[in-house]
Amino acid sequence: MSKCALITGITGQDGSYLAEHLLAQGYRVWGLIRGQANPRKLRISRLASDVTFVDGDLMDQASLVAALDAVQPDEVYNLGAISFVPMSWQQSELVTEVNAMGVLRMLEAIRMVSGLDKSRGGGGGRGGIRFYQASSSEMFGKVTETPQRETTIFHPRSPYGAAKAYGHFITRNYRESFGMYAVSGMLFNHESPRRGAEFVTRKISLAVAQIKLGLQDKLFLGNLDAVRDWGFAGDYVRAMHLMLQQDEPSDYVVGTGRIHSVRDAVRMAFESVDLDWEDYVAIDPTLVRPAEVETLCADSARARTELGWEPTVDFRELMNMMVESDLRQASRERDYGDLLSATSW
Ligand code: NDP
Ligand code: GDP
Repeated sequence: MSKCALITGITGQDGSYLAEHLLAQGYRVWGLIRGQANPRKLRISRLASDVTFVDGDLMDQASLVAALDAVQPDEVYNLGAISFVPMSWQQSELVTEVNAMGVLRMLEAIRMVSGLDKSRGGGGGRGGIRFYQASSSEMFGKVTETPQRETTIFHPRSPYGAAKAYGHFITRNYRESFGMYAVSGMLFNHESPRRGAEFVTRKISLAVAQIKLGLQDKLFLGNLDAVRDWGFAGDYVRAMHLMLQQDEPSDYVVGTGRIHSVRDAVRMAFESVDLDWEDYVAIDPTLVRPAEVETLCADSARARTELGWEPTVDFRELMNMMVESDLRQASRERDYGDLLSATSW
């Protein structure tokens, strides 16, 4: 009998790559869909037509219990979140509800449908549903050591980072309290042509494509000195899957160990279409964040040795891939007008 996985956040970047990866491994894949007529459902249906959908929302405990009852998954991947850091200053309560309390709701739903008894700590055994939580390098925030590894102290710099830290600790707590196979992937930034247009790499690749085709004049950015460890999302979903296949549950840092600044990203993206970034990029001070995460760099030694995980795409290849994809999309949009949107995939 093939394994069955339930993915929350199925309509997002990682949900789409993970669904493709699990389907290729022979899994039956279900995606949790929220809202009445989620427009992004069509996108994922086009990419991975074998995904089945079940309604539910991380804000609604009963809907999660009902989804688990309907799907009876072997594995749950909790990727659902409001994932854009600046949004977490605008709507901090909502972000905390989804990104922190949503994790607790899903863990509780799993505990309930699995019949794990709260009065018997540690009595659940490891036979039940396996749970993956999408933790984030944003938990490290103002870093206390470089590179960051599993034992590095958290110092989140945004409500997003603080909410993810709660999700991380409550996942570990359910593992230790109820014997659940529940793990967190502490993933560093990962990008792709499917990345949301609000994130800096995709904002850059979309703008470079538009500028190259003469459809845009300028690109406005915030802090060009911010440094990230950027990898390819398609590589990172393999790590999520591997984390649920181990004998013992554990949390892992996942990243490339290579760092670049936003300025590097802009330079490489413009170089890939033979343009000089300095002719097009301007700073918009309103895009600078109230508290910045200046630099992040992963030490993924444990993931590499214990999971056998390796990234396959370097940063220049990643930026080239994204610019090429957005150029194709923008040319089609230019030629066929509004029939296609430059941000759809
Ligand atoms: P996206 O923003 O692309 O996708 C987020 C997903 O969450 C969407 O499918 C969205 O669905 C869903 N969602 C939002 N609110 C709810 C809710 N109330 N209930 C259920 N689902 C909801 O994010 P990514 O794919 O890039 O990231 C996946 C996860 O990994 C996120 O948790 C993110 O915080 C985390 N992460 C991402 C990193 C990255 O670099 N990409 C780095 C580290 C962690 P809808 O269509 O309904 O809006
Ligand atoms: P994050 O690391 O999850 O917040 O991912 P982002 O892609 O949103 O941001 C990465 C870094 O790029 C952050 O340090 C931002 O401050 C910086 N940055 C600079 N200009 C921009 C911009 O215009 N948009 C975004 N999203 N980030 C920017």
